[in-house]
Order: sequence, then structure tokens, then C-alpha cells
Amino acid sequence: MGKPKLQIIVLFQNLGDKQTYYARDPAPPLSGILIAGLTPPIVEVELLHEMVRPIDYNTDADFIALSFMDFCAPHAYEVAKKFRKLGKIVVAGGKYPSTFPNEVIPHMDSVVIGEAEPVWVQVVEDMVKGKLKKVYKAPFAPPLDNIPPPRYDLVEPDYAVPVVTEATRGCKYTCSFCQLTIQSVPYRCRPIEDVIQDLTATSQLPFHKRKMAMLYDNNLGGDRGYAKELLKEIAKLKLWGLGTQFSFDCLHDDEFVDLLSKASCGMTFIGLESLSEPSLLSVHKRQNRVAEYQELFEKLKQRRILTFTGLMLALDEDTPAYYQNLPANLNKIDPSTILLSIAIPIPGTPFHKTAESEGRIFDKDLSHYEGDHLVFTPKRVSPNDVFKAFRKINRIFYSWKNILKRWWRFILGYSGEDDILNLVFRTLFISYIYFKLSIFQRDHAKQKVYPRFDSD
Ligand code: SF4
Repeated sequence: MGKPKLQIIVLFQNLGDKQTYYARDPAPPLSGILIAGLTPPIVEVELLHEMVRPIDYNTDADFIALSFMDFCAPHAYEVAKKFRKLGKIVVAGGKYPSTFPNEVIPHMDSVVIGEAEPVWVQVVEDMVKGKLKKVYKAPFAPPLDNIPPPRYDLVEPDYAVPVVTEATRGCKYTCSFCQLTIQSVPYRCRPIEDVIQDLTATSQLPFHKRKMAMLYDNNLGGDRGYAKELLKEIAKLKLWGLGTQFSFDCLHDDEFVDLLSKASCGMTFIGLESLSEPSLLSVHKRQNRVAEYQELFEKLKQRRILTFTGLMLALDEDTPAYYQNLPANLNKIDPSTILLSIAIPIPGTPFHKTAESEGRIFDKDLSHYEGDHLVFTPKRVSPNDVFKAFRKINRIFYSWKNILKRWWRFILGYSGEDDILNLVFRTLFISYIYFKLSIFQRDHAKQKVYPRFDSD
């Protein structure tokens, strides 16, 4: 008899079978491959990302492990119900089950609360022995040493950049909408050699997929000294491209930005959230300064690093005049790509608590908490102002004319010195990333599910 089989499913759908959407994101989420890497070899492991393909209920897997974000929780309960009816054992873990275990436990055979690393081997062993407990509670903020490399070999070929990992967990800031504020955990760094081991555990991938990687930290620059040492080691790997995430204030540190460039960083995600100072203050994002956006983004452009920028609408101090001027102001700051969303009052965050106490949350259907629906009453703009601004900004920012203009400005903004071969290669490579990201965001924005009452 073969080994029992565990299928890990990273859920993505949230609006029911009739409104499925496959995102075709260039890189997979980390959770599934991380759990696969932790799983002991007493079971065979399969991985399915619902972002790129539908769930197969005919799987011969004995056990199902579900990983999901808040907005997928109602979908997770449906999926678990179907699998349990088919006789499968279903386990769930991740941030939402850890924050609201009492809500999730009735839907699953077992729930892992907290960071899975210290308990996952036990969960799998108990599962195989038929002795699964209802709840496994991991110690609070465990050390991040000796985490095995993610299983990149299990990632679907749809993903252009399968090599994703993280070097740190946590963030020192307390933006009121951020999921990290639900339960504050200390900022922790992984041993640098472990991160390098992850980035090089890629022998089963095609050559070109080994040369690109993403670090999914919430804030890579939370401990700048650590980040610099890590970037020096990554530089030795001679990657073609590295993606990172860090808070805006890190851009003040020229050495950090230089080291990003030396580590072949070609794209970085930065949560600007707003171009309005009052709106930033309303969500306690004090580390961002609107007046510095243009100048500090220029530093990245000069080093040929693309900016992927989170922007939220419906923040408490947003006004119709702010939305009116936003496309032109964005053009001045010149981010390479934007991820526009409607603010989400994630349950458990200070933002949610305030909106709830003011009686402003009118939609409690969690499946709408993905950034494409408005679920609360904004303070100074109407819902229609928000939807109109959402469409208008996406339409203008992602018009082909503007995509090409930004690309040209980006190419001209480079001030480094390269030999001609390297210059041509980097230009082609970064252009590939830029167009891939822009087209993905353009299509994603177009296909978003808008609320019913959007009338424009
Ligand atoms: S800087 Fe980013 S990761 Fe840190 S609290 Fe704010 S939103 Fe969250």
C-alpha cells in the first residue's frame, strides 16, 4: 500500500461558483509551499493554488489542508463541507483561523492556531495515525530558525516566478487597517543562511525560473542592519531579478537602496496607500510623507527598480477633490504600477473597530472583504464617488498610452553604469517584468467585481 496523500489547497475564490476568477499572478503565495516543505515524508504531498486552477473534488487525497485569507473564509467552509462529505479529513490554518478559531473550528476536522512550523509535523503524524486533535496551538511568535525550504517543485507551471520566500515576520508600524495589528508580534528575522538556502533550493526548476525570486516580507527593512547583510549575500547569487516589500521610510537610507540594486532587485512593493496626508494620518500611516514620494521614488528609478504601489480608496479623509486630482498627482509621483483597492475594515483591526463602533459597516459578508467591494460608509465621499474614482484611475493609469509613457520615463531614468551587454540584458529583462506586471494589473482591474450599485 502506498503512502496516504495530503493535498494542500490555497484558496482564492470568494464569490461562488458562478463568479470564479483565476488571477494568473506571476508568483504564488508562500503559505502552500511552506506547509508542503514542513510536511514529513510519511505522506505524499500535492499542492493546488485556486488562483490558477479549480479544486478537483475527485482527488484521491486522504487529507486536505486549507490555507485561506479572510475574504475566502465563507468559501473555505463550503469547500471543507464538500470534502468532509466525501470522507476526507480537513485541516485549516493561517491568519484567519488563528484570529477567529471559534468561528472556523466547527467547519473543520482540525484547526492550527498560530504559526504552523512548531506543530505541523505533529499534526501530520496524528492525521496518519487517525488521532487528529480538534485544535493545535503553536507557541506565540516562535523563533524562525531551521524552517525547511519551500517546495518549489510543487508549484504549477502557470507561475513565472515560483521562488518565493520570506526573511522576516512582523512590522514595527501599526497602520490601523493592517492585519498585523490584530495581534502584535515581535519583528523577527530568519538566519541569513536559511534564506539563502531557500533561494538556492531550486534545482528541480527550469534554469530561467531559478534566476528570479520574491521576498514576501511585510517589511524587509524593519531591521535595516539585518536587511543590508542579507542583501549582500543575495547579491552573490547573481539573480536576474528580485522582488521585495518594505515600508516607504526605508527609501531614506541610500545604502539600503544601493544594496537592493546590487542584489538585482528589479521590483519592490511599497504601500503608499494614499496621496492625501490627512487620509494617511487617519490610518496611522505616519511613516509615509506625501511630499517625499516623488523624490524617493526617483532613487529607485535611477537604480532601475520598478515600484509596485498599494493605493486605497474610501479612507476617512478622502474627498471628491482628492479623487479628482489623483490621476494627475499619480502621474507626477510616477509609480511604475499600482494596486488600487477599496479600503477593507479587516475584522479585528483598529480600523474595523472604529468603523463598527460608529455604525458604518453595512456589509458583513466576509467574502466581500477583498478590496473590490465597499463594505462600510465612507466619511467624506459617497459610495458612487469611490466607484467612479476606482474606475477612472484604473482606466487612465493603465491605458496603453500611459503604460508606454511610464516605461519610457523609467528606461530614461536609469543613471547606473553598465557595460553594453549588461545594459541591454537588464533593459530587456526589466521591461519584461514591467509589461508583465502592468498587463496583469490592467486585466485584474478590468475584471474586478464591482458592487451592484456602481452606476457609471
Ligand atoms: S507598514 Fe505595512 S506591514 Fe507595517 S503595519 Fe503598516 S501596512 Fe502593515
